[in-house]
Amino acid sequence: MRFLELAEILDKIESTTKRLEMVELISSLLRRAEDDIRETVFLLQGKVAPDYEGIELGIAEKIAIRALASLSGLKEATIETELVKKGDLGKIGEELLRNKKQVSLLSEELTVKKVYGSLLKISKASGGGSQTRKLQILLDLLQNADPVEVRYLLRIVTGKMRIGVADMTIVDSIAVAFGTKDKSDLVEGAYNIMPNLPELAYRAMSGGIDSLASLKVTPGIPIRSMLAERLPSLSEILEKMDGRFAIEYKYDGLRTQVHKIGDKVELFSRRLENVTSQFPDIVEEIGKSVKAQIAILDGEAVPFNLDTNEMLPFQEISRRRGRKYDLKETIQKIPVVLFLFDAMMINGTNLMDVPYAQRRLKLTNTIEESQNIKIAKSRVVSDIESADRFFNEALEAGCEGIMAKSIEDKSVYKPGAREFLWIKYKREYQLEMEDTVDLVVVGAFGGQGKRSGGYGALLMAVYSREEDKFRTVCKLGSGFSDEQLDNLPRMLKPYSLKSRDHRVESTIDADFWFTPSLVLEVKGAEITLSPTHTCCRDVVKKGAGLAIRFPRFTGKWRTDKKADEATNEQEIIEMYHSQRKKVLADNA
Ligand code: AMP
Repeated sequence: MRFLELAEILDKIESTTKRLEMVELISSLLRRAEDDIRETVFLLQGKVAPDYEGIELGIAEKIAIRALASLSGLKEATIETELVKKGDLGKIGEELLRNKKQVSLLSEELTVKKVYGSLLKISKASGGGSQTRKLQILLDLLQNADPVEVRYLLRIVTGKMRIGVADMTIVDSIAVAFGTKDKSDLVEGAYNIMPNLPELAYRAMSGGIDSLASLKVTPGIPIRSMLAERLPSLSEILEKMDGRFAIEYKYDGLRTQVHKIGDKVELFSRRLENVTSQFPDIVEEIGKSVKAQIAILDGEAVPFNLDTNEMLPFQEISRRRGRKYDLKETIQKIPVVLFLFDAMMINGTNLMDVPYAQRRLKLTNTIEESQNIKIAKSRVVSDIESADRFFNEALEAGCEGIMAKSIEDKSVYKPGAREFLWIKYKREYQLEMEDTVDLVVVGAFGGQGKRSGGYGALLMAVYSREEDKFRTVCKLGSGFSDEQLDNLPRMLKPYSLKSRDHRVESTIDADFWFTPSLVLEVKGAEITLSPTHTCCRDVVKKGAGLAIRFPRFTGKWRTDKKADEATNEQEIIEMYHSQRKKVLADNA
């Protein structure tokens, strides 16, 4: 098939907003594509491979501009200025090369196969001289292209087609091309377990649309992630779940699907991109922790401070992206823990139609937890109080809320679906604690890894004036420089005790105890209810204290303050209420 045919269809698609019309256009193209069907669908998507294969077409805009400059005789800077003005290199190229198509014995019509093959070559070019080779391939294509072909070639190579035709439009088009619109659900079902539209189009064409029903989950090909609905309160969740459900921590990180095939491990993001190379530490640990030859697992990768055993804010994980060169250092600085919460396949048995409780059991039986691989915290609850307690526990641990999961028989793993089998409930607001607080060191925990031999985290307390007590409010392990960490044992030595000071109230057992003396300035994200900390216990809520979420040392030692001058309980309560008032005002 000529590339021109595809380019003209793309042009028509661009000028309609009606989805039905798009489906008509694409399905007729698919019917005509025959042997070129895979390449046709890839080009419609502006790709050369499914996202999960991790093959990037990527040609820098700079090179495309250079190609245009060389063919049009204009300066690169002139084209750049045009691009800033118009924003679409495709249209600019179309105009510039309108009358420049090579007409000679050497010129050849562009076919879909030829364009796809050239783009594949571009995507595979690497190493020395690769930029020149890419440029050459592009020049060769552009020289032989009609104006409308130029437009789409340029958009495809510079990655601007990705938002072109939506996947679901292609799903419908495959159904219409090789069956009827009613078959869309069937194609979507296949797409959920094999998100590779060119392959599905090929199979539908060659084996008939119904052959897609027998598609099987394939290790190495990511499944579209199951998603969750939301409800505004735990009581509504309890009602929706008929009075009983599994409640899990909702970790705030990066959705990660694990595929283990013998010795090989591949990781995929929620957008089904292959992210294996970003997490060599997880890959290695999966090999040891997963006691199955073949497994497909679902989880959340969370940045973690292994010394303090605390989760870090989600943003930290993004520092792993695009840092190929110092990845090694980043792995050490920002360790990641993968919390697994589901199993879709174990040892070749597809578990997606098996109810939640059984999948969870399979998961726990297959995983041997390690430093970097853990199983998501979960419990079955049937009353609001337990659910609420678990929710607060989750927040205190650094999670963003909870995930409620149905434990009825119908609770299968539904790829790509957002239904009430899973319901999320999270804090709707994200607050910055406006003020810093001054907290007293009352205990410490031994460090691990590079902090071994020293302290990994400190147990921090506020002061109660009325009762002359120090009550714990957080563990503090972030914000210290290496030097400050090294100095901590020396600074705290004079206050060291064999056991807990009688004025310290703590449900947490520290490794080391101190006379409350040293005061540190701390900044947190917010103040939350806490089932473990003793600060303001029973004041806001029976059975709960208050804790500071994501505390960080600001770098300021408050040596000017004595322990009994540290932030007191009353101030924490006031901060908690003003924060709540602010939330209510924001939501009003
Ligand atoms: P949201 O991104 O707010 O729509 O919430 C859904 C996301 O929560 C999922 O895509 C996962 O990345 C994440 N998540 C964290 N913990 C869990 C869990 N225990 N079960 C399911 N999803 C979880």
